[in-house]
Amino acid sequence: MRRDDRNGQDGQAVQGSVWQYSPAPEAREIVKIQPRYGLFINGEFVEPRSGRYFETINPANEEVLAEVAYADAEDVDRAVRAARHAYEQVWSKLPGKERAKYLFRIARILQERSREFAVLESLDGGKPIRESRDVDIPLAAAHFFYHAGWADKLAYAFPGRTPRPLGVAGQIIPWNFPLLMAAWKIAPALACGNTVVLKPAETTPLTALLLCEVFQQADLPPGVVNIVTGDGQTGAWLVQHPDLDKVAFTGSTEVGRLIQKAVAGTRKRLTLELGGKAANVIFEDAAIDQAIEGIINGIYFNQGHVCCAGSRLLVQESIADLVISKLRRRIQRLRVGDPLDKNTDVGAINSRRQLQKIERLVAIGVQEGAELYQSDCVLPSKGYWYRPTVLTKVSTAHTVAREEIFGPVLSVLTFRTPDEAVQIANNTRYGLSAGVWTNKGSKYLEFAARVKAGVVWCNTYNKFDPASPFGGYKESGFGREGGVHGLAAYVAF
Ligand code: ADP
Repeated sequence: MRRDDRNGQDGQAVQGSVWQYSPAPEAREIVKIQPRYGLFINGEFVEPRSGRYFETINPANEEVLAEVAYADAEDVDRAVRAARHAYEQVWSKLPGKERAKYLFRIARILQERSREFAVLESLDGGKPIRESRDVDIPLAAAHFFYHAGWADKLAYAFPGRTPRPLGVAGQIIPWNFPLLMAAWKIAPALACGNTVVLKPAETTPLTALLLCEVFQQADLPPGVVNIVTGDGQTGAWLVQHPDLDKVAFTGSTEVGRLIQKAVAGTRKRLTLELGGKAANVIFEDAAIDQAIEGIINGIYFNQGHVCCAGSRLLVQESIADLVISKLRRRIQRLRVGDPLDKNTDVGAINSRRQLQKIERLVAIGVQEGAELYQSDCVLPSKGYWYRPTVLTKVSTAHTVAREEIFGPVLSVLTFRTPDEAVQIANNTRYGLSAGVWTNKGSKYLEFAARVKAGVVWCNTYNKFDPASPFGGYKESGFGREGGVHGLAAYVAF
């Protein structure tokens, strides 16, 4: 180990120093990546009728990991037909307790193969292995376990009513939590007796494809889950398919709008989980060091690639200088680098396109008068990287306080009174999540009641549980995932 004394950009010597650890990479040999993947239709991997494939890369070093099939309209149609057939012939006829067995099996196999999934998630998406190992994969397994428990108890979830499945669900997911989002979509759909066609994001298809091996291992009947890989156009073909009963989408507000238009006037049920611009509010009576860790967890771990990221820090004016100086010091200590290294805090940005978006928005922030402070860590020479960044002197009118940046960039605003905190927190077109830090229970209960956000974390941040519904207000979408509310999105009465 070596101590490395650094200077902060404000000229102040950073107090203490960063301990340099020897590299501790997770072995990547545990996962066997195929050179080429087909589409998963009717229980097996098949060549795409389109004849086309695209590459998926490791964003940490731009290495090509595999070629993945591109599904065109005909391929999507094949997948929907397989799902319809499986729905009518098998899945909708199975008693709940039989469906539950499959979900339990999937959850168990996910746990058994969790290292493999964690390594693959970090390779394909760039997130630190600590996050994929400790958050993404365990939560994905927990989601299957949780919904296995509901499959034969739906009548108790909706007392006095008779829930029945909707039919075939088309599901489209983003690149920030590839396996976890697949679990959030697939588990409730299957528990309620629906079948699925799922489209992963184009930059992170590999863990969804590995999940198909788990379905095979679990003997899930063919056609119950089908996975079509491709780009936004593939997603659009799926949404437009006339034989879907339900569309579930997680992604950007722009695409969410297109999807809402595409399903308007059809029988398709819709749930949308879209962008966010969460306020993380810290009152002067908060336990400040604990709050700093929560803020760091809320925006820097996972590179800010979280729709519920605490990207706006609202700090009470009396403690603003203290909080900002602690934050500056803390981001110097974040370890940015190899996602497979167990010591890494901040991994790679998911794609070149996303990196350019972050760079563009931060440049606009500086132009509009925000003060920029960045970690002076050494970035790897290849791949897509962005320094942990704090923007201060931000006001609600600034673009960086309004637009979702989706990167490791925190915009700091100040407030004087609890009323003002609520007013700024709600001054956004989004409403997915919020955080509040205070030692007064009455204060956070009042804040939670007044802020328009689907989730409000008190003295913590980014905590998930399959039993707790997640979803947005306003332009963050509608419908909930998780808990009984999440089941309601997959049943009719
Ligand atoms: P981001 O901008 O964060 O990449 P997107 O909303 O573009 O998020 O992507 C989320 C998912 O939606 C991805 O799987 C993507 O392929 C898909 N997608 C993009 N455009 C469309 C569209 N017009 N219709 C359906 N799905 C789409």
